[in-house]
Amino acid sequence: MSQSLFSDASQRLEEALAYASISDDAIERLKLPKSSLKVSIPVRMDDGTLRIFPGYRVRYDDTRGPTKGGIRYHQDVSIDEVQSLAFWMTFKCAVANLPFGGGKGGITVNPKELSHFELERLSRGYIDAVADFIGPDVDIPAPDVYTNQMIMGWMVDQYSIIKRQITPAVITGKPLTMGGSLGRDTATAMGAFFTIEATWPKLGLSGSPADTTVAVQGFGNAGAIIAELLFDAGYKVVAVSDSKGGIYRREGLDVPSVRQFKDSTRTLKAVYCEDTVCNIVEHETITNEELLALDVDILAPAALENQITEANARDIKAKAVYELANGPTTPGADEILRQRDVIVFPDILVNAGGVTVSYFEWVQNRQGLYWTLEQVNQRLKQMMVEETERIWAIAQEKGISPRTAAYVHALDRIGDAVQAKGTKDYFTDGR
Ligand code: NAD
Repeated sequence: MSQSLFSDASQRLEEALAYASISDDAIERLKLPKSSLKVSIPVRMDDGTLRIFPGYRVRYDDTRGPTKGGIRYHQDVSIDEVQSLAFWMTFKCAVANLPFGGGKGGITVNPKELSHFELERLSRGYIDAVADFIGPDVDIPAPDVYTNQMIMGWMVDQYSIIKRQITPAVITGKPLTMGGSLGRDTATAMGAFFTIEATWPKLGLSGSPADTTVAVQGFGNAGAIIAELLFDAGYKVVAVSDSKGGIYRREGLDVPSVRQFKDSTRTLKAVYCEDTVCNIVEHETITNEELLALDVDILAPAALENQITEANARDIKAKAVYELANGPTTPGADEILRQRDVIVFPDILVNAGGVTVSYFEWVQNRQGLYWTLEQVNQRLKQMMVEETERIWAIAQEKGISPRTAAYVHALDRIGDAVQAKGTKDYFTDGR
């Protein structure tokens, strides 16, 4: 997966290079990561044995500021995958105009096999191993797949113990009581919502939200919250799914009831709840493949990478795809969707709300002054709408897809930062 992720990202970059005003120096700079660290983490297991887990941290590019990116716990994590994700973060941070470069980290582990005690020892051990590589002005980790607020809490605590000073700004996505930000849990979906609201009316495809049907793949942090935000705004959310499959209801789902039911039972059912009493309403059970092929206006993949591929892209009937997941559409599928006039709003824009509120958390930690939820969401809205409008304008002006436009936008910003330190033209006087 990692190699294809990197070649997918590189392919998108190649397409964008034709439209960006970027120096050869900057292109050269982006070919290799700034620095990569491989570590081994010894963990004393509950049964007394010692296990060693491989861990990684990559700082891809810091031309625009300290590197930023999550830490992933998964059995497939490798240095190549971490490098690919760090490369991706470089562009996402530039799209959102954050003063950050891109980084990423991970441990090769199946966290579901570890006890809570073992997980804590592993997380603290990771920080022991990478403490000299990260820092509030150097590289700032955050949660990613199978890491959460509590793990970030252990990590920031361990870093503070090593440095002998409380250092909340070294990691974002922390618990609120340890310096986390209000609105971080809803940030990714909230950012996506602002992008949808800013662009959907421009497409001239549908009237009011009530006439707009939506299918959401994935019902976790990103998927469940975007479904509820759209429901609250009057959109007709007709289908949602999780790893076990999906539900479809032509008249629309009562999303808050579905969430309440899922939270209490871990199962996804089309229900209508009054207080704690939930009744199942008429609906169809569908597979994830069927969900992707529904005849809806908006499709929001919010689960995994590589969901829309060359094998199913011709089945997609949605008019617009908003990528909340990272990498849900392969480059081959992208081309098929383009030929079929399905407009795709890319992950590096649509899900940038998460890293943006992580940036707000870092700012608050450094100020020692904490914002209200309204302030967080107001600033997030301003950023998302501004960058969405810019990317839309680039796409219109150059006649390119929103994805290529987002890469062009990011490349221009990274190029400007490289330029500011002087490029060949400066040093050779144009010769
Ligand atoms: P999550 O673990 O909270 O939720 C994932 C959801 O996807 C779950 O409902 C799970 O059941 C479902 N799922 C898993 N396998 C599936 C499958 N094969 N088909 C359909 N659904 C499946 O994760 P999340 O935080 O919501 O992240 C989802 C995506 O959004 C990931 O690609 C992640 O990288 C991306 N993302 C998340 C954030 C964030 O802040 N949470 C930020 C940026 C990007």
